[in-house]
Amino acid sequence: MMSKLPFVTKEQIEEIVKTYPTPFHIYDEKGIRENARRLKEAFSWNKGFKEYFAVKATPNPSILKILKEEGCGTDCSSLTELMMSEKCGFSGSEIMFSSNDTPAEDFEFASKIGATINLDDITHIDFLNKIVGIPEKICCRFNPGGKFAISTTIMDNPGDAKYGLTRPQMTEAFKKLKELGVKEFGIHSFLASNTVTNEYYPTLAEILFKVAVELKEETGVHIGFINLSGGIGVPYTPDKEPNDIMIIGEGVRKAYEKILVPAGMGDVKIFTELGRFMLAPYGHLVTKVIHQKHIHKEYIGVDACAVNLMRPAMYGAYHHITVLGKENSPCDYMYDVTGSLCENNDKFAIDRKLPKIDIGDYLVIHDTGAHGFAMGYNYNGKLKSAELLLREDGSVLQIRRAETPSDYFATLEGYWNKL
Ligand SMILES: *Cc1c(COP(=O)(O)O)cnc(C)c1O
Repeated sequence: MMSKLPFVTKEQIEEIVKTYPTPFHIYDEKGIRENARRLKEAFSWNKGFKEYFAVKATPNPSILKILKEEGCGTDCSSLTELMMSEKCGFSGSEIMFSSNDTPAEDFEFASKIGATINLDDITHIDFLNKIVGIPEKICCRFNPGGKFAISTTIMDNPGDAKYGLTRPQMTEAFKKLKELGVKEFGIHSFLASNTVTNEYYPTLAEILFKVAVELKEETGVHIGFINLSGGIGVPYTPDKEPNDIMIIGEGVRKAYEKILVPAGMGDVKIFTELGRFMLAPYGHLVTKVIHQKHIHKEYIGVDACAVNLMRPAMYGAYHHITVLGKENSPCDYMYDVTGSLCENNDKFAIDRKLPKIDIGDYLVIHDTGAHGFAMGYNYNGKLKSAELLLREDGSVLQIRRAETPSDYFATLEGYWNKL
């Protein structure tokens, strides 16, 4: 069993809570930067390589700016994500717009700021053309259908996924877009989520590279880039080996040399749209134990709830928990760790072996840096927490304040005051 250690100590948290009370999400700048640099190095064999960070995973401007400094762009799927990217200084080809079921106003804004549009459906060609016209560079999202397997293991079920164009539609779309004046084409696909195997990207790359060669032959278009999208995962449980991004980059390179280079397509740029891999391990949700309850089971009540981290309630997802200051104590107690929502699925852990917990202990819930704070909601009138950044020099910066009751009531505007 590999151990999972927090990037903060009990002493650090005791200092931080003097200024910023729990619960909060805290991000590790050093970890984020080092990981982003490893990714870049793993794909340094490809001249045009670029990671477009999936904004939905961690939509915070300070995080986006760190990633921008590391050479990343952004991948957006909504108007507000596009607005945030623009505000953070991303422009033109630094922004991918990989949306689906897209409202007209989102396409309008994406076109205005020159983002690279990734079409999710063949009917979106006419839809986009009517609103803003067709740009010279465009991408289409491919859905091969069926089941997606790596050797004999079924990874996911694209046949059931709402995204993308079928293989015949890809040909039709490329022909039509070429007639409409497109000069540079991209191909995008996202076939499996949170994969913890070094084979995912290389397998996907082979599929997309073959399709790219076929499409070029069928339609005579220039394919400028292939976007492998997201899906590289992280080991949420301590028994799993993390992905090795160097092996993954090398696997994609082999497929590139085997398929694209012989087809005279050695100039194709590789793009990624990773979210989870970029941020998940570099965020913790820090929460304080406020109650203990002994009924049919042993419950630990904390001051965070599913509003701060939805994945356990929504997917039954495992998130590792460290009791700060008790990192080396034996895990000889068993608890359910719960939040305060009036929903019995508001449990961060069920039947979890942990050290003996006392009221006032601080818990670190691991791997919350992506799809953590971002999925938050306001059920039960619960408020969203602050987000903090642990900087490389060890200082702490608040990068989003906690919500207050007036934020919660703000959308009632005049009504609230008339009550
Ligand atoms: C969610 C999403 C991503 C990021 O996925 P991760 O699993 O966080 O890597 C990338 N691209 C698109 C289009 C997405 O919807």
